[in-house]
Formats: sequence, C-alpha cells, structure tokens
Amino acid sequence: MTMNPTSGPRYSIVVPVFNEQAVLPVLLRRLDLMMQDLDGPTETIFVDDGSSDCSAIVLRAKAVEDPRYRFIGLSRNFGHQAAITAGMQAATGDAVIVMDADLQDPPEVVGQMIEKWKEGYEVVYGRRLSREGDSAFKQATASLFYKFLGRLSSVDIPRDAGDFRLIDRKVLEAFLAMPEQDRFVRGMFAWFGFRQTEVAFHRLPRLAGETKYPLFKMVRLAAHGVVGFSDAPLRLAIWAGFAVSGFAALYAMYVGIHWLEGDKSLVAGWASTVIIVSFLSGMNMIMTGIMGLYVGRIHAEVKRRPLYVVSERAGFDHAQSAGQSSDKRTISAA
Ligand code: UDP
Ligand code: MG
Repeated sequence: MTMNPTSGPRYSIVVPVFNEQAVLPVLLRRLDLMMQDLDGPTETIFVDDGSSDCSAIVLRAKAVEDPRYRFIGLSRNFGHQAAITAGMQAATGDAVIVMDADLQDPPEVVGQMIEKWKEGYEVVYGRRLSREGDSAFKQATASLFYKFLGRLSSVDIPRDAGDFRLIDRKVLEAFLAMPEQDRFVRGMFAWFGFRQTEVAFHRLPRLAGETKYPLFKMVRLAAHGVVGFSDAPLRLAIWAGFAVSGFAALYAMYVGIHWLEGDKSLVAGWASTVIIVSFLSGMNMIMTGIMGLYVGRIHAEVKRRPLYVVSERAGFDHAQSAGQSSDKRTISAA
C-alpha cells in the first residue's frame, strides 16, 4: 500500500455535497482507494452546500481525523456551481479535479484524466458516453440544451460534459479571477480556451439518494448558461420587430393594390388600423431590441471578465535583469 507519497505533483479533489449522507460511506472508501493510487500528495476538499442531513457532521469528522481531507461548510444552500467555486478557491494542488459526490463520476476515471494532464493538457473534461442513471427526459432535455447553447453561443461548450473535470493550476487561477455572479462553470472553462481534451466514461446511476437537480434547478442552470454565454435573446426583439413591421408593410401594399383595383369588399378603416398598429408595434420591438444591444454591452461589462487569459510568458525576467543592470546608462542617456 502506497500511503499518499510526499513527492510528485499535488492534487486536489473537490467534491460538492448536498444532502448525500446515503452515499458518504462508500464515497469515502472509494476516495481513500483512489488517493492511494495517485502519484502525488492529494487532498480532498468537501464543500457542504448547506445540507440538512448528516453529511456535514460526517465530513467534518473525516476532515478533523484524516489530514488528507478538508471540509468547507457553506452557510446555506448556494447551489452546485457556487459550491464548486468554493472548493476550487481552497484547492492548493497543481491539478484540481471536480467530481460529484454520488459516484456518478467514477473515481477511477481520475487516473486517466491525470495521464492526459501529464501529456500537457490543461483542461480534461469527462465526456459522458451514456447516462444510465438519468431519466430519458433528462437526457433528451440535456442534449437539446447543449445543441441550442452551441448555436447561440460563440464559445464552444463541450457537449455531454458536466462538471467532472481536471484543471491545471493555471486555469484555476484564471477561473478565480472571474468575479461574475451567475457561474455556469462548464461554460467558463470553455471560454478560457487552453489545451483541452476529454476522457470518455459511462455515467453510472447515482449510488444512492435522489438527484439534487430537480427540473426547476435544471432550468435555472440552463438559463444561466444561455444568459451568461450568449446575447442572442437580447437581439431576438430586433428580428421579431423587423418581421412584424415587414409583414405590416406587405399587408399595406396588398390592401393598397386591392383599393386601387376598386375592391368593394374592403371594410373602411379596418385595414389602415391594423396596419398602423402592427407596424408601430414592430417598430417598438425593434427599439426594444436596440436597447437590448446596449444592455448586452452593459451585461458584458458588469460580468467583469478579463479581456484575455495568458497561458504562458517567457523572457520577461531577461527584460527585468537587463533593465536593472542598464538602469544608470538609461538615465544618463536620457
Ligand atoms: N449539489 C450541490 N448543491 C446543490 C445541488 C447539488 O452541491 O444545490 C451536488 C450534489 O451533492 C452532487 C452534485 O452536486 O454531488 C451533482 O448533483 P446531482 O447528482 O444531484 O445532479 P445530477 O447528477 O442528477 O445532475
Ligand atoms: Mg448525480
């Protein structure tokens, strides 16, 4: 048995937990086994997302007795994405792995992720080949959502990938520099770029307990994904407005031609009213859409995302030391 070596890269495992007491005994055993197999010192950070069951008690006890475990308890349920962020903020490893508590993300896959990381990939996400545990409805809506988001967003968000992933320290720093409030974590990693790859796995049914993602939470997550990574909905009003006003204009022409031809079936006043009302409401929508464009700008501004993310720098220390040694000369030359 290799008890957690002290040399080698350091790993942090982040596990968000919300009312998972039923899976904890098995989870802890599997994590123990996995941590023994890794080639470097490993910490596991549990983030209790305001559980109302015994999860917090069990995990806190574990963290107190075993130096490889850490425990963070949030003051209430802030949601999966916030819990992940809290864990990542506390992570000290060279590589950070985020996985669910319910063992739907098999810990064995972590080894494969680490291999990819050693090949030089900075983000390794788990792609679900199958989703045995999830209802047909959840699978269908999830797949639809990713297609839809893929169309709307200029960021290439990987399909069939949840939040099970490994990230390099560098990417973690970039992530923590993103102060935005509504965090759609998987979109944020796609936004960073970096060298990304995937490890495919079969997603198992949840070990015990129930999903903590009821429909309304899924819809909320989906809405955050769309709003955070696309401003297409804001532009929607413009196109709708053009369509309505255009239709009104066409109808006006149609009525005009009939009127010129002396069509007696036209009810006086009806066509002109309808045309004016629909033309103006189309104009209204266009104006709303234009406001939308500005709101989109404001939205992008308030997200305070960095303008770019640097992956590497080289040669800057030369500049610095050269600057120091030639300081005097620069001054006298000036
Ligand atoms: N989770 C959380 N806060 C929440 C909801 C879920 O920390 O508000 C955790 C949960 O304990 C689990 C992970 O997030 O470790 C994924 O949740 P779940 O398995 O219920 O989602 P599903 O796999 O059904 O999409
Ligand atoms: Mg799950």
